[in-house]
Amino acid sequence: MSAVCVYCASGPVDQRYLDLASEVGRALAEAGHVVVSGGGNISMMGALVTAARESGGHTIGIIPRALVQHEVADLGSSELVITETMRERKRLMDERADGFITLPGGIGTLEELFETWTGGYLGMHDKPVVLLDPFDFYAPLLDWLRELSTTGFVAQRSLDRLQVTDTVSEAVRYATSR
Ligand code: AMP
Repeated sequence: MSAVCVYCASGPVDQRYLDLASEVGRALAEAGHVVVSGGGNISMMGALVTAARESGGHTIGIIPRALVQHEVADLGSSELVITETMRERKRLMDERADGFITLPGGIGTLEELFETWTGGYLGMHDKPVVLLDPFDFYAPLLDWLRELSTTGFVAQRSLDRLQVTDTVSEAVRYATSR
């Protein structure tokens, strides 16, 4: 059993993105893995944890006090940790997870993706960092980063540190492979 931290959108998104988050929550729970999340119960974050618990899973939500109302704290979470700062939230999310999956999201999700990814290629941690992208949401970003690798701004081995997949089952397998 592993604990997988899932980063995803906190803003309104269309049904297929909510369904993707639900599918990930369900798949992790059915495989017996713990879901670590940002502790909100809105948008994809909410779909993720709701589906995980409906499938009998254990969820750990970690949310800063200042966002409890804004992100509708996931009061039904198996564990809900309220932190004083965003930095504490991120540290605890990282510490509690054995691997990371990023789904489509906004600036907050991107920030979390880049932090875990850079931490990985710099050797700060050895946890799997997975991007689940079935809708090519991240294609422009990945194209740009590949382009940067031809000019030396991004090393190929840094790109290789991120496992990109378009299937939920592969994402779960990669993220729990440590
Ligand atoms: P977003 O992708 O912008 O919808 O945000 C997704 C999640 O990322 C939300 O729970 C935000 O609170 C969180 N978030 C936003 N900014 C940051 C940050 N600087 N560090 C960590 N999490 C963040």
